[in-house]
Amino acid sequence: MLTLIPLPAFTDNYLWVLHDGMHALVVDPGDAAPVLRWLQENALQLQTILVTHHHADHTGGVNELREATGAQVFGPARENIPPPLTALQEDDVVETLGLTFKVLEVAGHTAGHIAFLCGDVAGRPLLFCGDTLFSGGCGRLFEGTPGQMLDSLDKLAALPPDTQVCCAHEYTLANLRFATAVEPGNADLTAYETQCVKLRAAGLPTLPTSIAQEMLVNPFLRTRTAPVRAAALRVDPSALDDVSVFTAIRQWKNQFK
Ligand code: ZN
Ligand code: FE
Repeated sequence: MLTLIPLPAFTDNYLWVLHDGMHALVVDPGDAAPVLRWLQENALQLQTILVTHHHADHTGGVNELREATGAQVFGPARENIPPPLTALQEDDVVETLGLTFKVLEVAGHTAGHIAFLCGDVAGRPLLFCGDTLFSGGCGRLFEGTPGQMLDSLDKLAALPPDTQVCCAHEYTLANLRFATAVEPGNADLTAYETQCVKLRAAGLPTLPTSIAQEMLVNPFLRTRTAPVRAAALRVDPSALDDVSVFTAIRQWKNQFK
């Protein structure tokens, strides 16, 4: 039996943990303290640390956790992550907890960002996507180009619809306010926002989401739909091709209050 848990950290990060009752893996531990506390409380041994990209809120606790637990660290080959590290590229695999995770390169938020996909966790695919895809949104383009990010999001959009998507931040409500500005007539979006508002009011995470859910509500996965294309044209009359539509929506989001 595998259990998946988002450990909250900082203001809005989730440090995702997966465990089998004995061994655990953690994704993007920006802070070691909540992970160490949780391991101790549940008498679990940390076996694996997965890192999606180099930002401090995803890596700040890696050294302390490795030293305290002896866990093996896996992360992107194309980013500057301090050793010891098993450096990963597209299609590499990580075997842990009896599962096989495949590496997807998803540049855009950072230049070497990767995601981890397991084909079957309790009957469903499971994705750890760091700061690439959020519920209702996507990561800011700090290092990559809009074209790279669109390719990365296309890759994620092509995953099985029932894939559970574990994003690294609780940005959902703010993202859905923006998504509603883009597509005020999207009934799926309105219904999803109502559901997420209730979850947050109860102190619960809105994540994991799914690829199917995101295809219905996330403007960054919907840049080829008529309503999102029309919205992009309103903010940038020259947004005619796919990359320009994506760029226009991303820039609009950057300034959205
Ligand atoms: Zn980041
Ligand atoms: Fe982050």
